[in-house]
Amino acid sequence: MGNADANKEILFMTPVFKQMIWGGNKLGTKWGYEIPGDNTGECWAVSAHPNGDCTVKEGTFAGKTLSQLWREEPQIFGNVEGDRFPLLIKIIDANDDLSIQVHPDDVYANANEQGSLGKTECWYILDAPEGATLVIGHNARDNAELEDMIQNGRWDEFLREVPVKKGDFIQIDPGTVHAIKGGIEILETQQNSDITYRVYDYGRLQDGKPRELHIDKSIEVITVPAKSVEESVINVSADRKNEMNLLISCSYYKVWKLDVDGSMETEQDYPFLILSVVEGDGTINGQALRKGDHFILPSGFGKAQFAGKMELIASTVC
Ligand code: ZN
Repeated sequence: MGNADANKEILFMTPVFKQMIWGGNKLGTKWGYEIPGDNTGECWAVSAHPNGDCTVKEGTFAGKTLSQLWREEPQIFGNVEGDRFPLLIKIIDANDDLSIQVHPDDVYANANEQGSLGKTECWYILDAPEGATLVIGHNARDNAELEDMIQNGRWDEFLREVPVKKGDFIQIDPGTVHAIKGGIEILETQQNSDITYRVYDYGRLQDGKPRELHIDKSIEVITVPAKSVEESVINVSADRKNEMNLLISCSYYKVWKLDVDGSMETEQDYPFLILSVVEGDGTINGQALRKGDHFILPSGFGKAQFAGKMELIASTVC
């Protein structure tokens, strides 16, 4: 296509759903999605990953996958360089505890996982029960202690549990031990990668067998000592309304929170801007939006006028 008008079109995405042993049904009951069944743990909302490639819902590019658009219509994404769409946005509904896991960085993943990207990710906590905790980091002081704690199953000593509440924001660098616990709902912004090393799975069985663990790779990639809690958890509940509130800027992405109450305007002058409506409803340039909508504003989109009462999470590449 390549004409300027194509870059004025909002690209609404059709998500891909994943059933997980720890999943639930809130993506159906609270979000109104048509889920494949109970135990639906993840909504891959904006993704061009081969394990879940989202399609465009309507308009000029209806039915095309995001990976196809990335290849065929680079002007939509500001001609950003790269062999794949760089980000992946998910909603995760944890009905039960997720396994304890860690991700490699780009260098390790490229060398050991067939050229995959590593995974840096961040979580915006959409909902959490009273007294909720997450696992972020660990208590091993050096590599010998790390290995001993893991090999001998000293999980209570090893894992660092931190309290979290709705509105907290957590950055998870590669090498950070982490796990979401039951009852927590998050919006995850991450590098486009699906490489996860499972350190511990609470001894659970799936179809009568324990899920595979990746102990050796985990020990190789876990950062020792872990980053402090203060460096990982950011509270953003005291946000300013009708502004782009920057939550994080790292080498892979920038993420913002928007609390629209009345109206706000912003200029879309990034290569592209991904947005997810996580609460409420309203409009963008007169077009209706509601909770659960995920869309991309293309390069050169210009003014985006939001109205209504809603909360959004936005992101772009760095
Ligand atoms: Zn993760």
